[in-house]
Amino acid sequence: MTHPGLTIGARARRAATTAALLGVLAAPPVHAEWASAEAAIMGTAIRVELWQEDAEQGRAAIDAVMGEMHRIDNLMSTYKDDSALSDINRRAASQPVDLDDELSELIARALAFSELTGGAFDITYASVGKLYDYREGVKPEDAERQSALAAVDYRNVRLDAEARTIRFAHPGVHIDLGGVAKGYAVESSVRILRRMGVEHAIVTAGGDSRILGDRLGRPWTVGIRNPRDEDGIATRIPLQDEAISTSGDYERYFEADGVRYHHILKPSTGESPSELRSVTVIGSDATMTDALSTGVFVLGRERGLALIETLGDFEAVVIDAAGVMHYSSGLAPGGYSSGLKPDG
Ligand code: ADP
Ligand code: MG
Repeated sequence: MTHPGLTIGARARRAATTAALLGVLAAPPVHAEWASAEAAIMGTAIRVELWQEDAEQGRAAIDAVMGEMHRIDNLMSTYKDDSALSDINRRAASQPVDLDDELSELIARALAFSELTGGAFDITYASVGKLYDYREGVKPEDAERQSALAAVDYRNVRLDAEARTIRFAHPGVHIDLGGVAKGYAVESSVRILRRMGVEHAIVTAGGDSRILGDRLGRPWTVGIRNPRDEDGIATRIPLQDEAISTSGDYERYFEADGVRYHHILKPSTGESPSELRSVTVIGSDATMTDALSTGVFVLGRERGLALIETLGDFEAVVIDAAGVMHYSSGLAPGGYSSGLKPDG
């Protein structure tokens, strides 16, 4: 992301004006400026941009975010044999496995998202999801997919919140937090930034972003990608102090016999839904927008947007298989509220 037309000097002046308007007597620190960094963590692109009072504070804040991303990846990755999640997947079908508070709470939230979405969001999708390899173009045979499906049901995950243990009620269950982990990680990162005194920032992990504050007197602008053009923007949404998550059929996929096999699976069939190309959800909490974008993708346009309407504080933009955009009522052109107006 670049920000043409605004030099560091202009930004610092804007900060000074804002401070003056707020009646703050002290001039802003001389070295206040935007700082940003990118890294590849959690199998995706991590990006941090923040307003720093001085270079040392900025560097420490960026390091703290990248450290948090690594910490969560080490805990939740299913690609790492020594992660807590891999340990659960190895053992929980045969015995209760101890959980720390953090995983226990996140899995409890994931199960609540399953209830909320009527099972469209379901971390046990991985029982069949593990049979796909998008990089290698591998998919299960129909019979193999059908038999793995027997394990897919979030009610097969028995979480004992008091004893802090997890146990699977079916031998074939595998769980994967890929549908919430990035949202959780950006949410957690922004909490760390706030504790460190940062007031203006955006943290992005792949399709999930969490925004802290505004961009010094104006909103941040987050683009929703055109699902069929890597560099194209379908629309831009101004945001402050909010989270935005996009789930798309273009992140990880392969095509075979004219079918697009992508990384979001319908728990009832173990196949990729084809009604939509992308779903973007906006709301106060990135863990929720992440889970909801995945869940709405599975639910489809009608049921998905109907769910969003019941949630009050959440909005969504859905792009269908013809490339047409559909908005929830709070975003619909002419009828938007709460400043979330798309301008594309
Ligand atoms: P990303 O940010 O990686 O693009 P999404 O939010 O779109 O992720 O979620 C896709 C990921 O969610 C998949 O890679 C997989 O790990 C997981 N997933 C796929 N289908 C489901 C489902 N029905 N319920 C929960 N998680 C899912
Ligand atoms: Mg998601």
